[in-house]
Amino acid sequence: MSDEQELGITKSKEYNTGEWYAEVVRKSGLANYGPEGMSGFIVTRPRGYALWEAVQNFLDSEFKQTGVQNAYFPLLIPESYLEREKDIVEGFDPEVAWVTHGGHEELEERLAVRPTSESIIAPYMAQWVRSHRDLPLRVNQWASVIRWEATETKPFFRTKEFLWQEGHTAHETRDDAWDETMTRLSQYQSLYEDALAIPVLRGAKPEHDKFPGADTTTTVEALMPDGKSVQAGTSHYLGTSFAEAFDITYTDEAEDEQPAHTTSWGLSWRSLGALIMTHSDDQGLVLPPTIAPEQVVIVPIWQADTQEKVLDYAEGIADELEDAGVRVELDDRDERNPGFKFNEWELKGVPVRFEIGPNEVDDGVVTVVHRPDGETVELDRENIAEGVQEQFDEVYAKLYAAAEENLESNVREASSRNEILGTIGQHGGYVKAPWCGDESCEEEIKDQIAAEIVMVPLNDEDAEIHDGEDCAVCGEAADETAYFAKSY
Ligand SMILES: [Zn+2]
Repeated sequence: MSDEQELGITKSKEYNTGEWYAEVVRKSGLANYGPEGMSGFIVTRPRGYALWEAVQNFLDSEFKQTGVQNAYFPLLIPESYLEREKDIVEGFDPEVAWVTHGGHEELEERLAVRPTSESIIAPYMAQWVRSHRDLPLRVNQWASVIRWEATETKPFFRTKEFLWQEGHTAHETRDDAWDETMTRLSQYQSLYEDALAIPVLRGAKPEHDKFPGADTTTTVEALMPDGKSVQAGTSHYLGTSFAEAFDITYTDEAEDEQPAHTTSWGLSWRSLGALIMTHSDDQGLVLPPTIAPEQVVIVPIWQADTQEKVLDYAEGIADELEDAGVRVELDDRDERNPGFKFNEWELKGVPVRFEIGPNEVDDGVVTVVHRPDGETVELDRENIAEGVQEQFDEVYAKLYAAAEENLESNVREASSRNEILGTIGQHGGYVKAPWCGDESCEEEIKDQIAAEIVMVPLNDEDAEIHDGEDCAVCGEAADETAYFAKSY
């Protein structure tokens, strides 16, 4: 296979989304599939890992500014620990991978490879919390978990092992724990909207789809261009059920023993899946400047007699940008022509390209090309570091606007079962409908077109509860607004 073929994306995002996605992930150098016999596992290459690090850096800084400390707990959890919270056992039972042997010895007790870590973190929180003065207690771990799903592998969206962070906190009161739940949800929203250029909707999961053992599961949902929703991060108010199962109690000011209110919240590398799916196109990856490993690539264009002056000029600009903290790559490879370089950096998603030839040198300018739409502008060489920041802002705004347009034009209303089915069938996206709260009404939609209720609005916001209306599916009185969608 020639380099040109290897560089080109051959599938169409619009008509062949799944294969297109897999091709972008592979050809832009983000990930490979795992070894044969290990379906569901992927190898994250340095470019893919750099994106995960950007997500980590953003969130880690937000967490630390709001009282969270990082810690690390064992990969393996004794079965008896898992069993202490029965909803966790039931909820995760079909997906747990077990360690049964250590060397040649069969273990007395099976050890679960963590599917989530409440069951091993909570017992230690119980040891660390004695009085109300020990609260709030907040720990986070950056780790991987394993959930043995037997579905087709989709890098970053669906893998048996995935990277994530899981935060776990304990508080004195319900209100404190609820505030914590919302703080983390807002930080997830900020990651998407301020770093990944993806607007999200906030809501709660329906009762029957909560995190096992949780009182309330809140979620941010992102709408992909193919009309499917991505559960983009979840934050759970756990009530006192985990505290009761694991004895996380504290003595209050009156010296009475009380159960703590706990939360947990997690965001995984699915955020990268949403990022790739949202912005990329038939030329390859598209990244916002906020998290791109290279924000600018400089491609010098020279002939033998202009090589020296063009390269000098380009190097000067690269140095100046680097000093200003811009992530810049000067592609001065001799063996590649400019056209090849353009294609390669487009495939890799670099948001801004500088083209510099003898004319630019003579005029004291730089030709700037925006990755998302190919728009070309000329920037003065002087104050280039300031000028490029404006270009970054413009590229970010373009990406955000396109994603916002997709979201805003794809929330529709429906008031009957057939209308829900027809609207999702025809357009995808979200369909809002009054709902009685009964799972069986969701089942009817699920059975027909594999759409589900991805969220209901949170009580304290967008609470346009359909008072006096009837459930679109069964006709009983509605007390919630359900957002139906197909989902990743
Ligand atoms: Zn109903």
